[in-house]
Amino acid sequence: MEQELNLRALSLPGVEPKRPIVIAGPCAAETEDQIMDTARQLANNGIKIFRAGVWKPRTKPGGFEGKGAEALPWMQRVKSETGMLTATEVATPEHVEAALKAGIDILWIGARTSVNPFSVQAIADALRGVDVPVFIKNPVNPDIELWTGALLRMNAAGITRLGAIHRGFSSVDQKLYRNSPMWHLAIELKRRFPALPILTDPSHMGGRRDLIAPIAQQAMDLGFEGLMVESHCNPDCAWSDANQQVLPEVLDFILDRLVIRESVEATESISQLRKQIDELDNHLMDVLTKRMRVSREIAEYKKLHNMTVVQTTRYSEILDKRAAQGVLCGMNPDFVKTVYEAIHSESVRQQIEIMNK
Ligand code: PEP
Ligand code: MN
Repeated sequence: MEQELNLRALSLPGVEPKRPIVIAGPCAAETEDQIMDTARQLANNGIKIFRAGVWKPRTKPGGFEGKGAEALPWMQRVKSETGMLTATEVATPEHVEAALKAGIDILWIGARTSVNPFSVQAIADALRGVDVPVFIKNPVNPDIELWTGALLRMNAAGITRLGAIHRGFSSVDQKLYRNSPMWHLAIELKRRFPALPILTDPSHMGGRRDLIAPIAQQAMDLGFEGLMVESHCNPDCAWSDANQQVLPEVLDFILDRLVIRESVEATESISQLRKQIDELDNHLMDVLTKRMRVSREIAEYKKLHNMTVVQTTRYSEILDKRAAQGVLCGMNPDFVKTVYEAIHSESVRQQIEIMNK
């Protein structure tokens, strides 16, 4: 039997419990001025929960690792001057203790921490007896059991105001997203724990400003409860994650245009079917990306062995084989040929690029 979560409503003071719950703020607390400037603008636009990384887990050493405890009084100032609730990432029991002492309202566990049951347990132990809302980001790898396990560990320590943050998953392939959404994993988490609020983090998922709006809309379309978005008063000069942060006014523009749909309990409804189509299109794009990557590897081989890019017998073989397969699958063979001609032409274009490098 699946283990259950004992959940209470998040009940965040001053935050209406309606979709989307929005947590916004810079990737990292850099300076007091940057924090206050960003926070004031966000608060003026109606944002109620302010995020900033005080301790930053960087993939490689040498990057900006956060200001640490020095930034906690800045968060306190955000709270007292704007009335927003504050949220930050904790990765160790020491972080938990310092954040709670500074009156941080909401804690989250980052993707590089939720991957490690020892760390998660140490944080859970530090939280025993404390009633604070905790959000668990998905682990960097696409493992729903680890994600579930982290939630269960917090819950077993008495944390019942729990939420999840879906920020996407690392993958080795070159792709559109910085972290592949793999929406089906967040959907499965929702299936396991229907009362668990799930926020989508389009900033870390997309890794690019222009992907925030479409990912946020997709999250709303799928019925998730909210968003965590990185926003900075001067995004281009951010000390971390500069490419994915937006000005508070840009965030306001994006949120204003979001279409918020009500979830309807009908599996046959058109929106359910469209979700399946979107999911399948994501798979298609994934597969195409991988196919192009293999093509480029072939181009390197051909270049090394002084072979021509196009080998016509191989090309005709592919067209005929797939057209015949298409017929078996109920598709028009001309349609299948057209699709393969288009794929082949893009593959040739990429190979030629490599041959001439
Ligand atoms: C962050 O929220 O700034 C962060 C480090 O995110 P993640 O843990 O999702 O990588
Ligand atoms: Mn970040």
